[in-house]
Amino acid sequence: MEKYDFNSLLQKTKQRFAVPLIGSDGIDRLLSELNLVCADAEKLIQRYDDSDRSLIVCGAGCQDCCVVNVSITLLEGIAIARFVRKFALDDLEQVRLKLDSLWSAVRGLDDDERLVMRRKCAFLDANGSCTIYPVRPLFCRSISSTDVSTCRAAVAGSVFGEIKPVLMNQFQLQMYKVLFSGVGSGLEQAELDGRSFQLSGLVRYLLNNPAKEVTLLREGTLKWDDLY
Ligand code: SF4
Repeated sequence: MEKYDFNSLLQKTKQRFAVPLIGSDGIDRLLSELNLVCADAEKLIQRYDDSDRSLIVCGAGCQDCCVVNVSITLLEGIAIARFVRKFALDDLEQVRLKLDSLWSAVRGLDDDERLVMRRKCAFLDANGSCTIYPVRPLFCRSISSTDVSTCRAAVAGSVFGEIKPVLMNQFQLQMYKVLFSGVGSGLEQAELDGRSFQLSGLVRYLLNNPAKEVTLLREGTLKWDDLY
């Protein structure tokens, strides 16, 4: 199995996003690049990860870790908001209501406080599946537990201030951390907004303000207060 060079991946990812946003289709190009990066990551994991991937137990219906703060770049938020806007009207309304309720409960909480609340992500359906799976955040893609019981113990222990380790696939974790960093840095290099925001607050805001997507990405004017 070939050894993988994450530093080179970081540089290449930066280059992919360090492109000025020109014309009305500029944002579409960036969104399609994001899709490609995610597709490439899955291939790279298959090719270079020499650990036993059959040990990974994450899958549809397991929602134990979907109670944490999830950081996403503005570009990821735009991809998710565009995906959600295509939901059937009833489903879209449900997501909006869930986002309103969740965001009013978790905004301003740090990671530990958010975990203690155990409020589930607004994008989980009744079966515990992720309704935005094709465009799910890079952060969510990085998670790969090898033991469901340790995930549950870690979440339960957080209520008592305990920190319990969760064994994860390190190659996958590193892969998506590097991509997250590369996307953000590349956008910044192109003088676009490469900052990250919290998933629920950002997508809620973008659903309510679709006309602002390109301006926000280009001008970097989104403030924390705007999400309230
Ligand atoms: S986006 Fe999907 S995978 Fe990520 S926390 Fe929400 S439901 Fe879970």
